[in-house]
Amino acid sequence: MTAGTLDALDLKGFLAPEEASRLYGLAREASLRGPCLEIGGYCGKSTAYLGLACRENGAILFSIDHHRGSEEQQPGQPYFDPELVDRDTGSVDTFRRFRTVIADLGLEDTVVPLVCPSTVAARAWTTPLGLVFIDGGHSFEAAFADYQHWAPHVIPAGILAIHDIFPDASLGGQAPRCIYEMALSSGLFDPLPTVGTLGILRRIPFQHVSRTARDLWRGFA
Ligand code: MG
Repeated sequence: MTAGTLDALDLKGFLAPEEASRLYGLAREASLRGPCLEIGGYCGKSTAYLGLACRENGAILFSIDHHRGSEEQQPGQPYFDPELVDRDTGSVDTFRRFRTVIADLGLEDTVVPLVCPSTVAARAWTTPLGLVFIDGGHSFEAAFADYQHWAPHVIPAGILAIHDIFPDASLGGQAPRCIYEMALSSGLFDPLPTVGTLGILRRIPFQHVSRTARDLWRGFA
């Protein structure tokens, strides 16, 4: 299976083809350094691309999602999808679709689903990560919590990717862009070129952070 095979499957999700392809490429490199983790697995589209790359390296992808749909995916909201309603409960349930995709693609030995809010998984998380992909809730509270809890686990030279970076509010919510800017201004990440709405940052290796810190210190001395 290749990333091109996945393109042909037209999986349910909100990733543009060039964003999906870039995620695949990033995970292929990053999963050599450590496990990868995504927040917002939804119906498994990003999981498929990241997971395929991880599988090629014998690595693991953790995929966090409560699978109850985001605020924008509830009945009456703009991204509501009636196909994803569990007939027994009447609630949105994206986990059934997610499991089917992962099983069909042979990714059950690569992808570890964590079916819970990301803040719950964060309470016990200690594993350093080669790549973190934030694509969860779009409220400021949700995006900020994801940044605050997960960005510190990205290892030096690892990747922090953030989806749905819109240049202005007429095109989409600004919370993902806000946490992207926070990561940039932290001094701990270098920007890589954005692809579509996919913001990409690389954690600066320690020796380079030290140099940045020394340069900063000269400004005070
Ligand atoms: Mg998204």
